[in-house]
Amino acid sequence: MSSLRLGDTVIPYEERKNSRIKRLSIRVTPEKVRVSAPVSTSREEIQIFLQQNQEWILENWGKLQKIARESKREYLTGEKVPYLGKELTLQICDSQGKMIRAIYNIEEESLEISIPQSFTQELREEAVREILEKWYKEKARPYFLQKLSYWSREMGVSYNKFRLKGQKTRWGSCSTLGNINLNWRLIMAPEPVIDYIVIHELSHLIYMDHSKEFWKHVARFCPNYREHRHWLRKNGHTLVI
Ligand SMILES: [Zn+2]
Repeated sequence: MSSLRLGDTVIPYEERKNSRIKRLSIRVTPEKVRVSAPVSTSREEIQIFLQQNQEWILENWGKLQKIARESKREYLTGEKVPYLGKELTLQICDSQGKMIRAIYNIEEESLEISIPQSFTQELREEAVREILEKWYKEKARPYFLQKLSYWSREMGVSYNKFRLKGQKTRWGSCSTLGNINLNWRLIMAPEPVIDYIVIHELSHLIYMDHSKEFWKHVARFCPNYREHRHWLRKNGHTLVI
């Protein structure tokens, strides 16, 4: 990825051009700034556009960086991690020997993580992050499979294979072969948001695009899909460990 210099700030930068893009636009995410442009746009036009929007870009980038810094975890007792739209409290305990494990306490809405006493602080953080990821994936797989089976029955479609993925920016995808991928991080989101993504991907079994017909079909099974899409755009970056 290239980078964009605005005053003293250097931001990872990506440019996207294709024939479906009708006008110049900028999107600022916690990771980068992305400009989408029609194929015919010149380098100069993009430069001018970036200059015109410099202040807006810097303001939004600053805000997102602040959120990212604040939400950076240290994996200590008392810290919260998201799960199905709720917040679980971490309890970090010492374990004897080499045992590392996570135990979910439903009533207390807590997650007890045991880490060997001999681990240094750096090793502990890494171990907690790893066991958390493993725990989320273990929860996500059966949960998503159950959602897929429920919604494919409701919608009268059948998918081919399901795979759990871990991409940074995609929540789900559906291939032309009818294979569905879902991001394990989605298990941190509220249930209606997960339902929306499942319905979205299953709708791609009928419509491979994002046409009007596609969204109409999504709305049949998920009338509030706009709200859930918005939730993900606004909060998606917090669903990290
Ligand atoms: Zn889609």
